[in-house]
Amino acid sequence: MPWVNKKKCVSCKKCVKKCPVDAIDMVKGKALIKEDKCINCGKCIKICPVKAILKDKEIVKSGIASNIKDAKKSLSEYKSKKAKKRVIKSQMRQLKRQQKILWGTMKELKHIKL
Ligand code: SF4
Ligand code: SF4
Repeated sequence: MPWVNKKKCVSCKKCVKKCPVDAIDMVKGKALIKEDKCINCGKCIKICPVKAILKDKEIVKSGIASNIKDAKKSLSEYKSKKAKKRVIKSQMRQLKRQQKILWGTMKELKHIKL
């Protein structure tokens, strides 16, 4: 499932014209993919002139890279190795908590009564 990086989108509408199933709208001047209509053909990704549309796995990769960049930045504020290790442990605890929340939410969503 592709995703549009709004910051990069230059509103050319090429993806809108190319999509075979009319799954892209322009919202406030930026492309927005309708998940319920998208058939994951990848045509919009190929045609975007500024590479504003990414695949799921690219989004995950860039999210990880951005988290690691932030972590390194915050670690640079500490001098001792011991303090840096404490910060890493604390961040790991926070991420594990978030992971539990996400898994729990996904589990509940599967069983939600419609
Ligand atoms: S992947 Fe294909 S179907 Fe989905 S939005 Fe892009 S062009 Fe449309
Ligand atoms: S092709 Fe790229 S830049 Fe053009 S509207 Fe679509 S997402 Fe935005």
